[in-house]
Amino acid sequence: MTVTILGYAAQSAKAPLAPYQFERRDPREDDVVIDILYCGVCHSDLHQARDDWGFSQYPVVPGHEIVGRVSSVGGKVSKFKPGDLVGVGCMVDSCRECSPCQSGLEQYCEEGCIQTYNGVDRHDHRPTYGGYSRSITCTQDFVLRIPESLDAKAVAPLLCAGITTWSPLIRWGVTKGTKVAVIGLGGLGHMALKLAHALEAEVTLFTRSPGKEADARRLGAHHVVLSTDSQQMEAVKGEFDLIIDTVPYAHDINPYMPALTLDGTLVFVGLLGDIDPTLNTLPMIMGRRSVSGSCIGGIEETQQMLDFCGEHNITSDIEMIRMDEINDAYERLLKSDVKYRFVIDIGTLQA
Ligand code: NAP
Ligand code: ZN
Ligand code: ZN
Repeated sequence: MTVTILGYAAQSAKAPLAPYQFERRDPREDDVVIDILYCGVCHSDLHQARDDWGFSQYPVVPGHEIVGRVSSVGGKVSKFKPGDLVGVGCMVDSCRECSPCQSGLEQYCEEGCIQTYNGVDRHDHRPTYGGYSRSITCTQDFVLRIPESLDAKAVAPLLCAGITTWSPLIRWGVTKGTKVAVIGLGGLGHMALKLAHALEAEVTLFTRSPGKEADARRLGAHHVVLSTDSQQMEAVKGEFDLIIDTVPYAHDINPYMPALTLDGTLVFVGLLGDIDPTLNTLPMIMGRRSVSGSCIGGIEETQQMLDFCGEHNITSDIEMIRMDEINDAYERLLKSDVKYRFVIDIGTLQA
């Protein structure tokens, strides 16, 4: 048994997104059914709608920054009840038994976590479809509680942009006075600035866009470095304990390596693919510097981030769009023309 749901899908890498009807499973005993209110637009949605990463299975219904209200729950659901304000991020399931899953690192599940869209359900082996749709059905263990004090629209981007930048900040021990830099002021970048600032780090933005300086300071950066200016790059040599690189496409990271301290780390969260141009190891060897990567965050960690945002009144800076504006929004995202996250009002979704 299934229910028919209206959403927006890409039918191929070249096709614009358009209305699409698809089936969601009938709720299982541990499932929560959520009426979706808002869904953030992540650059990963664009990558997968257009098959940039080569593993898209069409049709793709994107969307993994989902906020909505519980409409019904399965018989064994204890954590949520109808009416609760909840979220779903990038994962909807994992094996739950492997060592990473047991350690709250479901995103690194040895069997592969189940992505909210462009994934395959572990039980019925049907494709998963994301939040550009009217409702989603998800096991309670992958549903997040949203602080009611926050603006629900502006919370949506925390479910991916927020947790993806929070997780490396925590993993690399960022605390008062830690020197943190962020490369790229987009959806992830602006959350990284806000979260690092709230953790009382000393925060710097690297940007290639001269016009973003005032915004960066408003969002939490203490310093802004124009990455295209070699003098400004020279001036920050040996400065940073941690650099979080949010840039979605291949770019030269060699100029950033000398900006790390001894034992400093540059963490990729944006680029999924080859480092091009090649990485010179000299600054790594001479300064015991590291290059690493980080994937979203675990469920418990995501809840901690949401609770932290509730306590510190942190949300995303958003521009609301109608569902039928999504194709234009993707074009604008490619031009970095968004301050700083599009959020779809799912109430505007029509066939
Ligand atoms: P976004 O809003 O488009 O922001 C990316 C920013 O990077 C831009 O605003 C721009 O900032 C800079 N940039 C863009 N193209 C560039 C280029 N060619 N060279 C140099 N800088 C460039 O994207 P987002 O939604 O934040 O996502 C960023 C990346 O993270 C995407 O690739 C996405 O797929 C990935 N992601 C990864 C995870 C994970 O788990 N690791 C989770 C979510 C998203 P400036 O104008 O300031 O330079
Ligand atoms: Zn995302
Ligand atoms: Zn697992």
